[in-house]
Amino acid sequence: MKARTRFAPSPTGELHIGGVRTAIFAWLLAKHTGGEFFIRIEDTDQDRYVPGSTRRILESFQWLGIELDGGPDHASLARMKTNEDFPGALADGEYRGVPGPFVQSQRLHLYRQWAEWLLEHGYAYRANETPEELARMRQEAQARGQTFIFREHMRLRHDVRPDEPHVIRMRVLPPNGQTVLHDAIRGSITFDHSAIDDQVLLKMDGFPTYHLAVVVDDHLQGVTHVLRGDDWLPSAPKHVLLYQYFGWPQPVWAHVPNVLGTDGKKLSKRHGAQSVFEFRDQGYIPEALINFLALLGWALGGGEEQNVFTRDELIARFSLEGVGSSPAIFDYAKLDWLNGVHIRMLRDDDLAQRLVPFLQRADIPIEPARDVAKLTRIAPLIKERIKKLTDAAPLVDFFFVDIPIPPAEALAGKLDRADALRALQATLACLRAVEPFEEPPIEQAMRALCDAIGMKPSQLFSVVRVAVTGKTVAPPLFGTIAVLGRETTLQRLARAEAQLR
Ligand code: GLU
Repeated sequence: MKARTRFAPSPTGELHIGGVRTAIFAWLLAKHTGGEFFIRIEDTDQDRYVPGSTRRILESFQWLGIELDGGPDHASLARMKTNEDFPGALADGEYRGVPGPFVQSQRLHLYRQWAEWLLEHGYAYRANETPEELARMRQEAQARGQTFIFREHMRLRHDVRPDEPHVIRMRVLPPNGQTVLHDAIRGSITFDHSAIDDQVLLKMDGFPTYHLAVVVDDHLQGVTHVLRGDDWLPSAPKHVLLYQYFGWPQPVWAHVPNVLGTDGKKLSKRHGAQSVFEFRDQGYIPEALINFLALLGWALGGGEEQNVFTRDELIARFSLEGVGSSPAIFDYAKLDWLNGVHIRMLRDDDLAQRLVPFLQRADIPIEPARDVAKLTRIAPLIKERIKKLTDAAPLVDFFFVDIPIPPAEALAGKLDRADALRALQATLACLRAVEPFEEPPIEQAMRALCDAIGMKPSQLFSVVRVAVTGKTVAPPLFGTIAVLGRETTLQRLARAEAQLR
């Protein structure tokens, strides 16, 4: 069965990485079955609206490389409370079969229509208690040691007319009954109606509450599987009831467990990066982030131990059965490891392109048009040595900027100066002659040189390394020399030789 799933964020701030994990489960499920994944912006709480957050949410998915089969297009983003349009938004009307609009504030007529339907069929009623009156009722209940559950008989006025300000509340029926939620992850959970409020569905301002909007939209937009965080579990029986009232088939419910830090506490700023863009700016690549997030609560199962997955493998292997019901632990060390693995899987030219902004940020004067070819040659030299894109700058800066002449002590290291000088002089002569100036002949010539002058490779190579890179730790030497080129290499060796003399 083809699954159609959605991610339904509220534009109320930064997109939290735990939410992205849940979105990735929904996307993988849809793609695994050949179905659709879309984004719906739930902006019904206009008081909590944060300008720019819709755009950042969509840009995050674009960066992750998650293609949408539906989501707000340019026109609809431009019509939001603040203009949220951006170049990468979906072209107008590009929805691959999922009906829009994808912004709840642009669907208000639908919520009104279905709220009226509930009224007509006896599943809802009008009420107009003021916030102050409700607060007093809540206090009174608390004073009696009870939780406040609003029910129809508690209304202060019974003659609310359709043309005066009012809310529409759902009737929880039967008042003393039970509702069973069949959850694909949590199993069956029974909820007593006595603990469920006659939830407001439509507010005085004509906006729906989340509960009405989510049910109407998920049904009208053909959502087959509702995947969301398990903080929504307490609301789920209201939604199950609304589907029953409307006579709509229940979707598959799947409440995904929370993500915790390694200390077992709810993931927060304290643990590190929070938003997708923070991870991007810290040098993580989307392939690794998706792999890592997919493993937060999902595993292959069946005794198979596999941690490294490409996007295609995840799509091929993901299933809801593999999602566990206990909280997932966000382990940064594992993310770093996976990031290194995925960096090594990149093609050299791809890695080179991705390094550009990070090197520029580290003040290395990179010009993509001029330098990407060179960076592509450097990529295989550093791939094994970096876990994050931010790790590259100190390993490659000397390829692009001249180095200060290393002090004599640094050049000599553990050797005495005369030997270090001899090593540099012999290397100069050797590298002047080597043909072609490429890694294998350079390596061959320098190894032969060690024998010729009676020096251990480790000794000779460390003097040369400091002379040409200015560092004791650098990428593999012969490849480095080849990329630096004969002219620069000889020049740096000659300067070092002069320094020692
Ligand atoms: N708008 C809700 C939120 O911000 C979505 C919950 C759901 O996925 O149903 O979390």
